[in-house]
Amino acid sequence: MIKVVKFGGSSLASAGQFSKVGKIISSDKDRRYVVPSAPGKRNSKDTKVTDMLYKCYAMAEAEENFSVALKKIQERYDAIINGLNMSLSLNKEFEEIAENFKNKAGADYAASRGEYLNGIIMANYLNYEFIDAAEVIVFHEDGEFDLEKTNEILSARLKNCERAVIPGFYGATEQGMVKTFSRGGSDITGSIVAKAVQADIYENWTDVSGFLIADPRIIHKPEVIKVITYRELRELSYMGATVLHEDAVFPVRREGIPINIRNTNAPEDEGTLIVESTCRQPDYTITGIAGKKGFVAVNIDKDMMNSEVGFGRKVLAAFEEHGISFEHLPSGIDTMTVFVHQEEFVGKEQQVLSAIHRLAQPDSIDLEGDIALIAVVGRGMRSTRGTAGRIFSALAHANVNVKMIDQGSSELNIIIGVKNCDFETAIKAIYDIFVVTQI
Ligand code: ASP
Repeated sequence: MIKVVKFGGSSLASAGQFSKVGKIISSDKDRRYVVPSAPGKRNSKDTKVTDMLYKCYAMAEAEENFSVALKKIQERYDAIINGLNMSLSLNKEFEEIAENFKNKAGADYAASRGEYLNGIIMANYLNYEFIDAAEVIVFHEDGEFDLEKTNEILSARLKNCERAVIPGFYGATEQGMVKTFSRGGSDITGSIVAKAVQADIYENWTDVSGFLIADPRIIHKPEVIKVITYRELRELSYMGATVLHEDAVFPVRREGIPINIRNTNAPEDEGTLIVESTCRQPDYTITGIAGKKGFVAVNIDKDMMNSEVGFGRKVLAAFEEHGISFEHLPSGIDTMTVFVHQEEFVGKEQQVLSAIHRLAQPDSIDLEGDIALIAVVGRGMRSTRGTAGRIFSALAHANVNVKMIDQGSSELNIIIGVKNCDFETAIKAIYDIFVVTQI
């Protein structure tokens, strides 16, 4: 078996956390490839090393003296090294970083040092080979990641390497210019490494025991999702559930490699398994609930709309002209509603309205803001009768007025629109009916 293990910033924030990670890795000889993040926050008031690096580099770029700021970063690493009783010194690396900062090596280079240095410590600590991601993760000149080239180089490099540490988050162009993924991008590196070695599993270790059925800020101690499919995850994450970087799914998904979200602080927990498909029935009819506030419903009315060919296209062209993407598009006989993000829409609303008038000549347009959308997701809904009925009776009992319903034909999700102020009540009512009362 080959396991690729990625550890997030909070799992590597201190010597104490490092030693937990060391135990996790040494407890399973299949954990052969390790992808570390940069040290994260040790407590809620702390700063991530990545943020310290961005700040420090901004000073260098403004030609300010950045030596104190860089020293503070070195202290973070030294505390880890000393706490682990290691004899490693990063002085040489820090001298080189200072020199490169002076020469304006770029913000991506600066941020990447967080993972680079943590990778050196990790490799020494585990006695694994260190592989600089700049040598094996390839980006195009324009900053776009090159999966094909990377896979070729990385799989060849790891073929004869029994155990290695490959720092997350960055790579380089063929000219040697360091580039990073977007924030949280070590998740992507882990997935790329898992693909390159054709791992049996990609374990993503973080500070929670997997995905929760609902947001813990709304539901007290929600249950963990044991198994979720990639499609369900996608439906939930576009509505705001974030544990894993969105782009981390693609490299492994195509290979059929499952991802296991695990908790460094509770390694005995099984976490969440993300799979392509499963015949394991979920514990509940629904797999998860997620949602977001802040949408606008643009209601467009026109007599005989349903027989006018091209009406929908003209309406959507008005949004496209102003660079606004739509979220949902429910329609009636003579009405069509376009749901858009309020934040994106508000500055351009009058231009969009006049564009709709110009292009589609509706009878009237009516706007309703402050709407929240809730996605109720679950592969189990397909085989269960009455799911929608139960959701709506729960909402009616909780006195929540439903503004919109949209069920995709995949029967994987039901989207419900409610007023922003009913958002929390609605989520509680849905969680209650499916999880607490277990029907
Ligand atoms: N260290 C980077 C960040 O803070 C990348 C990562 O942790 O995945 O975003």
